[in-house]
Amino acid sequence: PENVRVYEFAEKVNRSVGEVIGVLFALGMMVTKNDFLSKDEIEILAEEFEVEVTTVNPLDELEIAEDHDAEEDEANLEERPPVITIMGHVDHGKTSLLDRIRTSKVADKEAGGITQHVGAYQVEKNGKKITFVDTPGHEAFTEMRSRGAQATDIVIIVVAADDGVMPQTKEAISHTKAAGVPLIVAINKMDKESANPDNVKAQLSEIGVMAADWGGEYEFVPVSAHTGMGIDDLLETILLQAEVMELKANPNRKAKAVVVESSLEKGFGPVANVIIKNGTLHVGDNVIVGKTYGRIKAIKLDDGSNAKEIGPSTPAAIVGLNEVPGAGDELIVMDTDKEVRELAEKRAEYDRAKALSKSTKASLDDLSALI
Ligand code: GDP
Ligand code: MG
Repeated sequence: PENVRVYEFAEKVNRSVGEVIGVLFALGMMVTKNDFLSKDEIEILAEEFEVEVTTVNPLDELEIAEDHDAEEDEANLEERPPVITIMGHVDHGKTSLLDRIRTSKVADKEAGGITQHVGAYQVEKNGKKITFVDTPGHEAFTEMRSRGAQATDIVIIVVAADDGVMPQTKEAISHTKAAGVPLIVAINKMDKESANPDNVKAQLSEIGVMAADWGGEYEFVPVSAHTGMGIDDLLETILLQAEVMELKANPNRKAKAVVVESSLEKGFGPVANVIIKNGTLHVGDNVIVGKTYGRIKAIKLDDGSNAKEIGPSTPAAIVGLNEVPGAGDELIVMDTDKEVRELAEKRAEYDRAKALSKSTKASLDDLSALI
């Protein structure tokens, strides 16, 4: 719906543009040659011209989507690390917790090396990797979700033990539940004298998040970002949850990734921080990312090193795009530079035409109101 223009429809059904416009005009609907048809209008026309209409996504998108989302043979699937987002009320310790996890688990590997900000980082626990998204708050999370680009497998809800449940705690929980993403509660600031974890449990049980040790289905882990207490427990709880979810991907296919943030960097041009959702991304791959495209020139990992290729759940900063993409945009690898360029152009043209069509329609409506 809403992605075929009047003249395109006419061509498809072997009618003149005038006939198409005439049918709608007779019913009081004013359209011009370049307008996009609404779902209702298409239905009317289909009935009038006795044609069957199958809906196709904007332009070639469906074709790519099919290629990428095709049922995967179970034999090709391999376990992948869980992707974690931390949410919670302001000042309850999200940043501190992310920093603590990163420094306590990544430091030995780095041995004084540089860390690169790539929008997410990976730690290792019991030989298994965990990816932490280190940027999105609620807005980024919901924005990505509304665009169908959910990157998160598990949400950690941080609640300060001394402060208890606050408005943004509730908000974070309802977003997480609405997204159908499992959550784990981290009761933070346990080092404080005023810490009252039972109060947190009681408050959360009132809003439908009952702790497992109280007979509910949610894991609660007491932690302190300051002392490091409970961090290992939290990581283990994440790995247990991930195991239950059987998170898998096929590393032997063209990559699909999601942009968590992006920027224009001096000396590099547009840089996108992405997390690989499926497949393997290689330097040299031709990619389309939302309305922009490019060829991967460099892949930078969270430890500051460069990689030639990265697999599922790996976060990285990629260089080589023509423009800065948006957060939540999906990156898709295609075979040739021609394909990605053409699709990017089509997407841009589609957007322009749609905006134009909307404004034309509005002015026609205004006009008829005046008459
Ligand atoms: P955010 O807004 O959720 O990212 O919270 P921050 O990580 O910025 O922390 C807010 C404040 O709480 C800062 O002053 C932190 O030092 C403090 N804080 C965070 N975690 C702990 C903790 O485990 N114990 C104590 N005592 N203070 C903490
Ligand atoms: Mg913060």
